[in-house]
Amino acid sequence: MKTLHDVLCEAQKNKVAVGHFNVSDLAGLKAVFESARQLSVPVIVGLSEGERAFMGVREAAAVVKVLRQEHDCPIFINADHTHSLASAEDAARAGFDSIVFDRSELPFAQNISETKRAVEALKAINPSILIEGEIGEIGTGSEIHEQAPQDLRLTTPEEAKQFAAATGIDILAPAVGNSHGLSRSMIRGEAQKRLDIDRIAEIAKATGLFMTLHGASGTNDEDLQRAIQAGITEIHINTEVRLAWRRGLETAFTKEHDQIVPYKLLPAAVDAMKQVVSARLLLFNGRQSRTVTT
Ligand SMILES: [Zn+2]
Repeated sequence: MKTLHDVLCEAQKNKVAVGHFNVSDLAGLKAVFESARQLSVPVIVGLSEGERAFMGVREAAAVVKVLRQEHDCPIFINADHTHSLASAEDAARAGFDSIVFDRSELPFAQNISETKRAVEALKAINPSILIEGEIGEIGTGSEIHEQAPQDLRLTTPEEAKQFAAATGIDILAPAVGNSHGLSRSMIRGEAQKRLDIDRIAEIAKATGLFMTLHGASGTNDEDLQRAIQAGITEIHINTEVRLAWRRGLETAFTKEHDQIVPYKLLPAAVDAMKQVVSARLLLFNGRQSRTVTT
């Protein structure tokens, strides 16, 4: 069976990106799994520390493992934005395929030393686990924000190269115009996030690492396609899926006032999430009819 490393190598070679979608529960997991399976593409399920606290670290890892084995499909699990070594070690022991060790809020030198220490400790638990490190600013909270964050500090190719060499990470999360969450104007369709494609290409060249684009909800489609061509190998979508979940549930509640059976209401949320996940997976895997020149 393919490992996450195999899948990311293929993505890098074929200039596609593996979709990463955050989930909080089994309904979200069902939506991500079914979308990827129907399209026959690999996929990563992500859980932040908050999402892991709700679903359970070992519980989430166990369900993803069952899906992978029972259906023989490349579904992987990532411990998203992990801010402490203890929490990262829990996820590594539970069998997560990758961990985002995020100490990007620290000064650069301290981020390097803590990330290096985490890489060593986590690879001692599982030598094949992939560790992602983060530099630069991409804002916090995959939620609805009044306004998009301003003046986020972008990653430079020089610091990316230094960070990669000093820490031994497998995957880099750069700040290249991406940001977590959606602003109200983005939800209304009046604004989109735009990416610094040249910077992505320079960082890819400087490090040679797999690269993750965080906070991709609300990003211009063409920018996403060009970012993949420039070296992005994994793309995180969370807020768009959460928005779909809420709207799907609201529609179900409005339609069926007296319905109290969860499994009769939840499919509306699953279907709404599947629409988002499927559309993003098609785009990330170059299967949208639109072509883009870089
Ligand atoms: Zn993120």
